[in-house]
Amino acid sequence: MQQSGGIMKIMKFGGTSVGKPERMHQVSQLITADDESKIVVLSALSGTTNNLVEISNTMATGNKSEAKQLIEKLENHYKDFIKQLLKTDVCLDAAAKVLNEHFEFLYIILRISFSESLNKDILAQGELLSTKLFSIYLTENKIDHALLPALEFMTIDGYDEPQIGAIKVKLAQLLKQNSDKKIFITQGYICRNAKGEVDNLKRGGSDYSASLIAAAINASVCEIWTDIDGMHNNDPRIVNKTFAIEQLSFEEAAELAYFGAKILHPASIWPAQYYNVPVKLLNTMEPSAKGTLIAEKAGSVGVKAVAAKDGITAIRVKSSRMLLAYGFLRKVFEVFEKYRTSIDMITTSEVAVSVTIDNDVNLPDIIKELEPFGTVEIDTNHTIVSIVGNEIAETKDVMKKLFDAIEPIPVRMVSYGGSKHNVSLLIDRSYKDQTLQLLNTGLFGL
Ligand code: ADP
Ligand code: ASP
Ligand code: MG
Repeated sequence: MQQSGGIMKIMKFGGTSVGKPERMHQVSQLITADDESKIVVLSALSGTTNNLVEISNTMATGNKSEAKQLIEKLENHYKDFIKQLLKTDVCLDAAAKVLNEHFEFLYIILRISFSESLNKDILAQGELLSTKLFSIYLTENKIDHALLPALEFMTIDGYDEPQIGAIKVKLAQLLKQNSDKKIFITQGYICRNAKGEVDNLKRGGSDYSASLIAAAINASVCEIWTDIDGMHNNDPRIVNKTFAIEQLSFEEAAELAYFGAKILHPASIWPAQYYNVPVKLLNTMEPSAKGTLIAEKAGSVGVKAVAAKDGITAIRVKSSRMLLAYGFLRKVFEVFEKYRTSIDMITTSEVAVSVTIDNDVNLPDIIKELEPFGTVEIDTNHTIVSIVGNEIAETKDVMKKLFDAIEPIPVRMVSYGGSKHNVSLLIDRSYKDQTLQLLNTGLFGL
């Protein structure tokens, strides 16, 4: 059987989609609904990665007894889970062994001194557990499959960038070794870094894994199964009335993911886009819902959706020489390049430049290096609100409607014209919910 060339599909299931035994049952039905070969990418059970973060943070502070209690609590959750998931003694025994292996590992870490690489090992346990338990469940239900260890093919380089070329080669080898199988299960989120240590693709990274795998095998489609019926026009956690969007272009989806639509990891679109693999957002709880198709074509022109990204810091550098002499911007940007800090928004005036960053780990050093160029002002705890759509810049009335809608909101920066798909506003975090609601009314009439 040929394992590549667009004949395999990817099905990624998020935390809620595997978070309960009955959901795993649903997932098993979805992955056996057709005869196609597929790689099934699983997240950790919902809540597990948060629990592991808490365990790790508690260990880091040296509070071993509290960390032990947290591990015990999580272990009990899994003990209950397997009792409900599995029926036969053989499979229950196998699952108990898996729990033993992974929780023993956490108890061992508790006894040794904590480090950043151990932190990554701790965070990896969630996906390792979910895939192994799901594999046992499939075996119990006589569903033929193979488990592909992500740690054997998913790698990132020294800058935390995925190594698509290497992933392609290793994955092809693993698939070849299992050429008699049609269903492959693997872990999302986890990977190995340039030092060969266990690492991850950052929170929400299973979407990114799915897209990278889809790109690596040139999949026919990358299906992201989650707990909602597709990309909505606004953040459903904040705004009351939202609706699913039928179709988005890769560019539109990438902007929405990058600017905060939690349904997709910020970097999860580019691999699929680069290899032109369509992405579908589907609902595990309502499999017949249409969902969202993300492909080359946008489908329609105009505003599609609004998303918001928190934790933004704005930096204004006011040139001491009153005019932005040529070379000034280069010097400013070089500082950000030096500290590998990417800039999201930029605006300039005759005497000043404002930029935003979402990673302020190196902010003190950045400020120190910017100070010789002029006065540096910092605004923390801001939010970027992005209005995304096809050709919105050219769509009649969009800008008027947008600014009419947000009339009561103080806007710190506006970015327009950078791409044809996006207008971004920078506001204080405290205005976020109100802004999203106002835009829902003003742009979508909801
Ligand atoms: P999973 O565990 O399946 O990866 P996530 O919780 O990461 O699921 O993403 C799905 C959630 O994203 C939804 O339940 C929803 O609350 C949230 N979300 C935020 N913005 C959007 C949006 N624009 N469209 C759809 N869902 C969104
Ligand atoms: N389990 C990881 C997280 O919670 C990855 C994912 O679910 O996408 O961040
Ligand atoms: Mg997610």
